Amino acid sequence: MKPRILIVEDEPALVAVLRYNLESADFDVEEARDGELALAKVAEMQPDLILLDWMLPELSGLEVCRRLRRDKNTKNIPIIMLTARGEERDRVRGLEIGADDYISKPFSPSELLARIRAVLRRIRPALADQLLTCGDLLMDLAAHRVTRNGREIHLGPTEYRLLRHFLEFPGRVLTRDQLLDAVWGHDVYVEQRTVDVHIRRLRKAINGDGESDLIRTVRSAGYALDPPAPASPLTHSN
Ligand code: CA
Repeated sequence: MKPRILIVEDEPALVAVLRYNLESADFDVEEARDGELALAKVAEMQPDLILLDWMLPELSGLEVCRRLRRDKNTKNIPIIMLTARGEERDRVRGLEIGADDYISKPFSPSELLARIRAVLRRIRPALADQLLTCGDLLMDLAAHRVTRNGREIHLGPTEYRLLRHFLEFPGRVLTRDQLLDAVWGHDVYVEQRTVDVHIRRLRKAINGDGESDLIRTVRSAGYALDPPAPASPLTHSN
């Protein structure tokens, strides 16, 4: 089951960008455009996490957060507050009344996704850790299943472990030694070029016709799994 995220934000353009990026990362998304609607929506859908804008019509984000924390049915739902840059005072108040994290606008989609995963991992490990994604590539750890663009991908055990390790460190360059340790273990002697052989197989399996190569070769360093560039940057200030 996909984690459900409720976006509480009154700016339609920002909601659209958030929705696009969250759905691409395989979350179910619902939205509410003011504080009163947010409370109704929370009761209706029981979200796994709430992105809560600070400046909202009807009830402020702060008041919504306070009310959710007072209600025994909603007091444990993770909340990430969205607010304008530099309002340190707001941040402290938000955390005081029970927000789990806080992110300043403007923020990048990848930064937001990292925060969401971190909060989910801390609070609901099962939700955060069952699915690993990179753009349209998805690894379901519980089902031991990999798909790209909805297409099922069959991997050998070594390629599966390699891909899992890459997905746990998206964007980071991993050396052949690091990959050997992580995938084959410290105690096994395997030549470095073995890594290259399995990377080649992994690439062949995950990159379909016309799809971008998600694995980047970094000369004399190693390999990285790169998420595709986000659709559009979040540059709203409100
Ligand atoms: Ca707003």
